[in-house]
Amino acid sequence: MKTQTNSNKCQTCGKKGHDYENEEIMGCVPPKDVLKFGKYSIDKSYRNALYELYPFYTAEEIVGFYLGHNPYFVDQNTWLDEQK
Ligand SMILES: [Zn+2]
Repeated sequence: MKTQTNSNKCQTCGKKGHDYENEEIMGCVPPKDVLKFGKYSIDKSYRNALYELYPFYTAEEIVGFYLGHNPYFVDQNTWLDEQK
């Protein structure tokens, strides 16, 4: 019986789950619990907020949000400020 979940498998390309922290996997949609993308470490609540709005965004787009490159959502620092 298979007890393993799909979390070890990439939902986008079907390959073995990626190491988003150490590999440059920009075109795949990371699991919700992935918070590290290369040198970027994303705040968990910010990541959750993004995920609820845009669950199918790729690693590249998530980093873009984080850095404030995406006009549809504020960057992490602004967002965290707004939560206070
Ligand atoms: Zn993939």
